[in-house]
Amino acid sequence: MKTVGYAAQAAGAALAPYTFERRDLRPNDVAMEILYCGVCHSDLHMVQNDWGGSVYPLVPGHEIVGRVTAVGNEVTRFKAGDAVAVGCMVDSCQHCDQCHHGEEQFCREGMTATYGGFDRLTNEVTQGGYSKHVVVREEFVLSVPEGLDLSRAAPLLCAGITTYSPLRSWNVGPGSRVAVIGLGGLGHMAVKLAAGMGAIVTVIGRHASKAPDAMEMGAESFLASTDEAAMSQAQSSFDLIIDTVPVKHDVTPYMPLLDIDGSLVIVGQIGPLAEPVTAPLVFGRRRVAGSLIGGIAETQEMLEFCARKNILPECEMIRMDQIGEAFERMERSDVRYRFVINMASLPAPQAEAA
Ligand SMILES: [Zn+2]
Ligand SMILES: [Zn+2]
Repeated sequence: MKTVGYAAQAAGAALAPYTFERRDLRPNDVAMEILYCGVCHSDLHMVQNDWGGSVYPLVPGHEIVGRVTAVGNEVTRFKAGDAVAVGCMVDSCQHCDQCHHGEEQFCREGMTATYGGFDRLTNEVTQGGYSKHVVVREEFVLSVPEGLDLSRAAPLLCAGITTYSPLRSWNVGPGSRVAVIGLGGLGHMAVKLAAGMGAIVTVIGRHASKAPDAMEMGAESFLASTDEAAMSQAQSSFDLIIDTVPVKHDVTPYMPLLDIDGSLVIVGQIGPLAEPVTAPLVFGRRRVAGSLIGGIAETQEMLEFCARKNILPECEMIRMDQIGEAFERMERSDVRYRFVINMASLPAPQAEAA
């Protein structure tokens, strides 16, 4: 099936219209029309080949919401018209220990990324959600619960699950003391989700200008990382810190903020850390850990949780042709709090592929 999207033709190139093919339905495939796609910081990293290994043309996008248009003859859970979603992965081996217990993101053979990955059967490069249509195997298609606003749900598929998973892994619940570093796309979801779980949430940031937004999202306090007195007063006061800062930074100043046995969880791929200071780790059994998205079952659980609690990302809706400007603004952290592309703004596929 011919479809149209926006692709980068080379590292760092501006995204431009691109007509390409989606595969014919396999028996276990779901075809969908994409209605909305969120803009994740990793889309920009991949376009710029910041992590190496990007393959071009590259159609980014892994926060996908749409409607089913057709299903393969073995698909049992979806039918045409269903509201569905796809996140950061579209396949895994399905037989290793990690896949068996629902953590496909840690598949021993490597999960297949939604874009820039390689199809496990044909080795074709996968292309993402900045496009009109996508075909994904049933096991990696999420169901969007009734009542969740489709136009705002897309960022849940990466920013949402990336912060929900560590909150669940570290057993956050009523009364947990959670701090969130950075109030961007991921951070604002971490605040809403942790507050929804009953945690007492503090946002840690450089600029108090975001404090009112943080409170509105459910935080109880704002801690300015530049305020030495406040930082020292906040020592040993958190069970869990979710560090959502998307660029390289020193985590050492945050470690003393953890209580005994507390953990600081990094969810961004930010390269090597500055040399850590071990005293706060040793004197307090504190931990620095990482976390990567979440499994498919957990992602479905997160969508149900958000529908039940009416938790939605703060979105700025854009047209597909505004993506260049959106990338620039995202680099300056000038977005409240996630861009979402309305795919109705895409042109029709060209009759002849270029
Ligand atoms: Zn992402
Ligand atoms: Zn596996």
